[in-house]
Amino acid sequence: MIVVDGVSKRFPNGTLALDQISARFQEGEFIALLGPSGCGKSTLLRLLAGLEEPSSGQIMWPTKNVGDIGFVFQDATLMPWMSAAENVFLPLRLRGKSRAETKPAVLAALAQVGLAEFADAKPASLSGGMKMRVSIARALVSAPKLLLMDEPFAALDEFTRFKLQADLHEVWRRTGTTIVFVTHSIYEAAYLASRVLVMSPRPGRVAADIVSHVAEGPERRTAADYTAFVKQLSDTLRQVMPA
Ligand code: ADP
Repeated sequence: MIVVDGVSKRFPNGTLALDQISARFQEGEFIALLGPSGCGKSTLLRLLAGLEEPSSGQIMWPTKNVGDIGFVFQDATLMPWMSAAENVFLPLRLRGKSRAETKPAVLAALAQVGLAEFADAKPASLSGGMKMRVSIARALVSAPKLLLMDEPFAALDEFTRFKLQADLHEVWRRTGTTIVFVTHSIYEAAYLASRVLVMSPRPGRVAADIVSHVAEGPERRTAADYTAFVKQLSDTLRQVMPA
C-alpha cells in the first residue's frame, strides 16, 4: 500500500502544481489519475516514482527499491539500434544481470504484450503500437510492484489504443500489479481503472475518488455500467472545471 499524505508541490518558479493531495493506493488496484492538462497528474506520478520530492507532505511506500517501480512514458523511448529483446533486457543489464540468465524473463515479458514473435525486430520495423508494447514489456520484465504510466497511449490511433487498453487491462488482471495511470481521457479512465481519482485544475487537488463498478468481460466497452461510469466521471469533471 502507498500512502500519499498531504502532498503539495511548488516548483522553484512559484507554480503550485499540487495542493494537499492525500490518497491511499491498495496493492493490486488500477488507479487512473484523471484531469485536465496542467492539473499536476504527471507531477504526482513523478513524486510517486521518487523522481521528485514533495515541497510538503510525504509519500510512504512499503518498500522503496528502484526495481519495485516500473515507468512507462507517452513516448516508447526505445534504443533504435537494439532489438525488442535487447531493449527489454536493458533495465536488467543495468542491474548487472546477464543476458543468458534473464532470457526466459525477457521472452516472457514480450509474450505478455503479444510480441513473442518480434524479439529480434528493431524498433524501426515496428508500428507505434508495437513500440509501446515493447516499452510496457521493458517495464514488466522486472516484475515491478508498482507500474506508473504517463499517458502511454495518447499518441496512438484509436484502433491501436483500444487494443492496447484491452491488453493492458488483461495484463493487470493476470499479474495483479498495482498500476497508476495518468490520462486526460474519461473513456480511457472508465475502461481501464478499478478506481479513478478525478483531479481539479491547477493547483491539482483530488476532487473525487470513485471506485469502478464496471463488470469485467469482453463487452466491457459497450456495457451499460461502463456508459454510466463515463457519465459519472464526465459530470464530476464538469463540476470541477471553471465555467
Ligand atoms: P499534467 O500532467 O496534469 O498535464 P503537469 O504535472 O505536467 O500536469 O504540470 C502541472 C503544472 O506544473 C503545470 O502548470 C506545469 O506547467 C507546471 N510544471 C510542471 N513541471 C514544472 C517544472 N519543472 N517547473 C515549473 N513548472 C512546472
